[in-house]
Amino acid sequence: MKKISVVIPCYNEQETISIYLIEMKKIEAELPLAFEYIFVNDGSKDGTLSRLREAADRYDNVNFISFSRNFGKEAALLAGLKATTGELITVMDVDLQDPPELLPQMYQKIQEGYDIIGTRRSSRTGEPVIRSFFAKKFYQVINRISDTEMVDGARDFRLMTRQVVTAILELNEVNRFSKGIFSWVGFDTYYISFENRERSAGETSWNFWSLFKYSLEGIVNFSEAPLTFATIVGISSCVIAIISMLYFFITNLVTQNPVPGWPSLVCIILFLGGLQLFCLGIVGKYIGKIFTEVKKRPNYIVKESNINHKV
Ligand code: UDP
Ligand code: MG
Repeated sequence: MKKISVVIPCYNEQETISIYLIEMKKIEAELPLAFEYIFVNDGSKDGTLSRLREAADRYDNVNFISFSRNFGKEAALLAGLKATTGELITVMDVDLQDPPELLPQMYQKIQEGYDIIGTRRSSRTGEPVIRSFFAKKFYQVINRISDTEMVDGARDFRLMTRQVVTAILELNEVNRFSKGIFSWVGFDTYYISFENRERSAGETSWNFWSLFKYSLEGIVNFSEAPLTFATIVGISSCVIAIISMLYFFITNLVTQNPVPGWPSLVCIILFLGGLQLFCLGIVGKYIGKIFTEVKKRPNYIVKESNINHKV
């Protein structure tokens, strides 16, 4: 029987873990696959770890890795993927917003020869309107400025072959933006759409500000367009400056009048100063990324695990 590894990042999910496992046990019975669960406790501050220990005692196929602190979902995914041993690998949220019922359909598609079966939400019902608006805008912008295609509404929930996961793990960058990495590796991908679900319990760990920062991460990690933008802005303001210099020089010769307009001068100085700082900020963002890459710090630190082989 083929083995499927399920990677599940968990952050403060004490209420959802048992609900999730109950649902998954139903799916296990439906599929001709041996299941292996790899829960990653991403430094939760609630009872998540003890729930995971209990689950691991109760079920043979439940494994967990627990971090020394919160390292973020990207790090949790990486740790989980590294620990997988199955021929097929899937990544799921524990809150049932990634419906386990889709797995049989996804498995069927992968047997048809696809390498990746992705999922996307066909709607964003139940989400704040303003969040949906900015999410849409983010995908429009990133797809225009990045060569890596990112599908609007695509979730991290996907079924992959071992070959794909090996490719993903070969990218050893420290700044990991999964949505980009999953798509960057390529392979034949098939998307299944589903209606957005509410969380089974607990609360989302994302607020507007954290999503905003996350989207900037995506842009900086997968596009150099902001650098081009800074260059273009710099060149245009030089051109404007040269034209206006000529203009004022000539009018001064013709009218023999010193050019009035101190207030406008102050505005221009302020504007250019602001522009310079802004462009410096953009460049700084990339330098910051280089800094973290160069340090080569590990993406996470494991404090406890019931997996024997190296995680
Ligand atoms: N998560 C994580 N580390 C974090 C934040 C979230 O491992 O720092 C996990 C979380 O437990 C869940 C998944 O990532 O399984 C998605 O998080 P959440 O449901 O809060 O996000 P949303 O579905 O609202 O986008
Ligand atoms: Mg969720």
